[in-house]
Amino acid sequence: MERKKPLDYYVEYFPGEKWNETKGTMYRHMECKRCGQMSKCSEDTTAVTCSDCVQEIMNNAHGGPEAYGKQSTGRPRGWKWMQVFVDKDGTVFHRGIEQPELKGTLPISTIKDKGNRLSKKEKEKIKQEAGSRLFKLKKQYTGLRWKKDKKVIEKYIKYESRIISGKFPRKFNSNEYYEKKY
Ligand SMILES: [Zn+2]
Repeated sequence: MERKKPLDYYVEYFPGEKWNETKGTMYRHMECKRCGQMSKCSEDTTAVTCSDCVQEIMNNAHGGPEAYGKQSTGRPRGWKWMQVFVDKDGTVFHRGIEQPELKGTLPISTIKDKGNRLSKKEKEKIKQEAGSRLFKLKKQYTGLRWKKDKKVIEKYIKYESRIISGKFPRKFNSNEYYEKKY
């Protein structure tokens, strides 16, 4: 009998539990050479690439996840790390792993967070600040004599009013906002 070389990768046997496996039979698994997750393989396999990595390599070959996965799926950033994510067609994922038996049983995940990433609390704080600014600006405005000066203040008033009504500009940056002085 031919002597086998020691393996480079970790191997473990797990009992079959999937629908296409025989209960009570032990199946050989090997760590993925790329990410290390255990993946079923045949008895003579010496190295294995798991299906996740194969998928990722394919995606990269098509222009990277930015160009491929993200835009074609329309899923939000980080959906793979969410405890539960329900795709538009009702497919349920638990931390990025499809749960076919749960398809259509949960409400579709809403994708928020498209514009600014402010929390409700931060928004309230900024709205308060805008309120006190608006008060000052209006006072300033009534004291002005020249139309051109008034125009400038009008612009600020318009901006702060939008903030108060919750209409934050797309590229709103709270640090820049607080630094702004009139
Ligand atoms: Zn892998």
